[in-house]
Amino acid sequence: IDTGVPGRVRVAVRLRPRNAEEMVADADFADCVELQPELKRLKLRKNNWDTDTYEFDEVLTEFASQKRVYEVVAKPVVESVLEGYNGTVMAYGQTGTGKTYTLGRLGEEDTAARGIMVRAMEDILADVSLESDSLSVSYLQLYMETIQDLLDPANDNISIVEDPKTGDVSVPGASLVEIRDHQSFVELLRLGEAHRFATNTKLNTESSRSHAILMVNVKKSVKGRDSALPSQNGNNSHMVKSLKPPVVRKSKLVVVDLAGSERIDKSGSEGHTLEEAKSINLSLSALGKCINALAENSAHVPVRDSKLTRLLRDSFGGTARTSLVITIGPSPRHRGETASTIMFGQRAM
Ligand code: ADP
Ligand code: MG
Repeated sequence: IDTGVPGRVRVAVRLRPRNAEEMVADADFADCVELQPELKRLKLRKNNWDTDTYEFDEVLTEFASQKRVYEVVAKPVVESVLEGYNGTVMAYGQTGTGKTYTLGRLGEEDTAARGIMVRAMEDILADVSLESDSLSVSYLQLYMETIQDLLDPANDNISIVEDPKTGDVSVPGASLVEIRDHQSFVELLRLGEAHRFATNTKLNTESSRSHAILMVNVKKSVKGRDSALPSQNGNNSHMVKSLKPPVVRKSKLVVVDLAGSERIDKSGSEGHTLEEAKSINLSLSALGKCINALAENSAHVPVRDSKLTRLLRDSFGGTARTSLVITIGPSPRHRGETASTIMFGQRAM
């Protein structure tokens, strides 16, 4: 597993197993995809005799364990965050394909089931020293270009602040909770999940329409040789003299459980007006444009176009490590959505 080239998005695809309903309803039909994990290839069925082949950085079958998925998708990013760089891990895919399973499972009764957020925090807690370092978390929901605080639902319109000098992005209006141990983090995730459910019930929307964004801020005090500060923007990297007292090195891990990628019915039959349908999709399509721009090494990454990309601005591209896992289901009935998810992943590479 390599730590990834800065500025380039690493893309893994994960297939979830057939669910009980699909085992019955699709019993007579083959899966719409065929995976060749050793070759890092995925074949998408076009019809009974023809397939299209795609390559990814990693191909994770329905047998891939949560541990393996963490190691492939997130661990390199977490390691680079612990070295002082920012990083992002995102899951993209149709609703019901396993984004939350991959990122958000708490696995309290079954530790093997733990998802990326919990495993990342474990690795971070094992590395920092809570006497001299600090670890704090914000948990946000982004729905229709409005940011809500999942740790305090009274904060329902949070603004994004960018430091014009350093380019650092922050959300000063959001709760920032210090993490002392594993259990306090799991409780925080559970609280966020409960608030997410309650907010969406109130707004009469589905949580699949919103993005959930976990931000982990790491402040490590480093001395001597280690205190060379990596530059977050790839420019004017500066060294800190080793005889000085310890310096605090800041970095940030952002984990994004993206809104479902399926098309929203613009006819309004889901109760949305055309304007709402557009706004719901705005951040997701802006993210796609930024990812394409990064993949093409374009000088212009249009981060200003949406709240999501503005939030990710300092943890995306540049010296930051970005990892994307696209989640797909096997059902031939969802071949169209699966194909569009695969294309999103391909355009990121
Ligand atoms: P999403 O967040 O993309 O809408 P979920 O993570 O909620 O999807 O997953 C939908 C359902 O499929 C859940 O019941 C989940 O437990 C199950 N599931 C998803 N991925 C897997 C997997 N890799 N193995 C077993 N079950 C899975
Ligand atoms: Mg989900």
